Amino acid sequence: MSVPPLTPPASGRGIKVESEASLAAFIWFRTGGPAETLVRPDTADDLAAYLRDLDPSTPVLPVGVGSNLIVRDGGVPGVVVRLPKAMAKVSVHDGRVRAGAGAMGITVASAARDAGIAGLEFLRGIPGTVGGAVRMNAGAYGRDVSDILVEATVVTRAGSVEVWPAARFGYVYRHSDLPAGAVVVEAVFSGMPGEPAVIGAEMDRIAAEREASQPLRSRTGGSTFKNPEGHKAWALIDAAGCRGLTRGDAQVSEKHCNFLLNLGSASSAEIEALGEEVRDRVKAHSGVTLEWEIQRVGIAAPSPLRGEGRGEGQPSSAAPGTAPHPTLSPEGRGL
Ligand SMILES: Cc1cc2nc3c(=O)[nH]c(=O)nc-3n(C[C@H](O)[C@H](O)[C@H](O)COP(=O)(O)OP(=O)(O)OC[C@H]3O[C@@H](n4cnc5c(N)ncnc54)[C@H](O)[C@@H]3O)c2cc1C
Repeated sequence: MSVPPLTPPASGRGIKVESEASLAAFIWFRTGGPAETLVRPDTADDLAAYLRDLDPSTPVLPVGVGSNLIVRDGGVPGVVVRLPKAMAKVSVHDGRVRAGAGAMGITVASAARDAGIAGLEFLRGIPGTVGGAVRMNAGAYGRDVSDILVEATVVTRAGSVEVWPAARFGYVYRHSDLPAGAVVVEAVFSGMPGEPAVIGAEMDRIAAEREASQPLRSRTGGSTFKNPEGHKAWALIDAAGCRGLTRGDAQVSEKHCNFLLNLGSASSAEIEALGEEVRDRVKAHSGVTLEWEIQRVGIAAPSPLRGEGRGEGQPSSAAPGTAPHPTLSPEGRGL
């Protein structure tokens, strides 16, 4: 990697620390370079203590299951935080669902159904964790996390544990104001009373519709671009003739053309370049500039033509307190 080696706090005290750890092993696209340092805390307090001891200049990137990520081929400098199973527990009290941020959306939706809480069904169709959903304001079928979140527990980059009411996230479409480096560790969701059988039927309908319309069994990152105001991204991509377009082993899905696929041996560079080609073609065809929904993180692999090859899309500025991860593209943050 092109950055000086880290001296992160060592393993112990409820933290597992691994150097040069593969991310491609678990993120949906199955591409990209390693994390310089991957940490897995046992508890929120362990994570907070670790972050307090970490050099403040070291970038921190939380990841869920990477269902919305392109990890660039040169890997991710700094610390990547992945939550363990112990932080994926889901329980229901007083009509509210409390979920560890490592829990999957389907687990939360199922717990809500069993407790007769309606309104969380859309999480059934989002194949990511609670942490990713809270960060991304994930949504579908006209609802998103901003409609159901009551509060979330956040471990800040400085290492304090804070409970944030939903309003503090500043939610807009597929975007929150959560600062880079802050890790969501738990969330509380609310809905309205409902019949488990009716809720279950809606979840089944969502599952069937997804199966029919999305490449769920492929190596993908979900919707690549946000729907521009008044448009559907997939329709603009289709009209620009991009359905099925390839670059190396990267392809615009034939089934849903706002999805990019790794057909087997694509690199992250090929996937990202294909996405940029789609943006160019859509701009030329319809005049609309597509904005990336997928988060692109890390650095490009060194290129013989460009020397060290820092990733494209380095952010140039950010509002105070919202400094992005140094390798997180500004478009990926919804700016
Ligand atoms: C087949 C498919 C269908 C999809 N359908 C939808 C859909 O209908 N609607 C939708 O909104 N999305 C959809 N997605 C995208 C994706 O599932 C969501 O964005 C999801 O919320 C990402 O969760 P994740 O855990 O995989 O996050 P990741 O992809 O790992 O990360 C995404 C972002 O969240 C941040 N993050 C992850 N965990 C945490 C945490 N604990 N604390 C703070 N930040 C964190 C990361 O830093 C990154 O910025 C789909 C994806 C696929 C592959």
